[in-house]
Amino acid sequence: MRGEREGSASALRLAENPEIICRVCQFYKPGKEVLECGAFRILKFFVESGRLSVEEIEEATKIIEKTTSEEV
Ligand code: SF4
Repeated sequence: MRGEREGSASALRLAENPEIICRVCQFYKPGKEVLECGAFRILKFFVESGRLSVEEIEEATKIIEKTTSEEV
């Protein structure tokens, strides 16, 4: 488990850059205000509590984007 300090720094980064999560969402519109859906809140909770890092989310989104582009 990661430290709380690291979790709060990552949570701040996530709050300032919601596209880290939302970029793989079909409902995401760049430049528009992002309201937090349940999935976003759950991921944010894990980041805030230090159980998940922003880097792990970014790694997952790269895989999702690659997988999605191969499906088309
Ligand atoms: S907050 Fe949730 S529904 Fe909204 S764009 Fe982000 S992931 Fe999609």
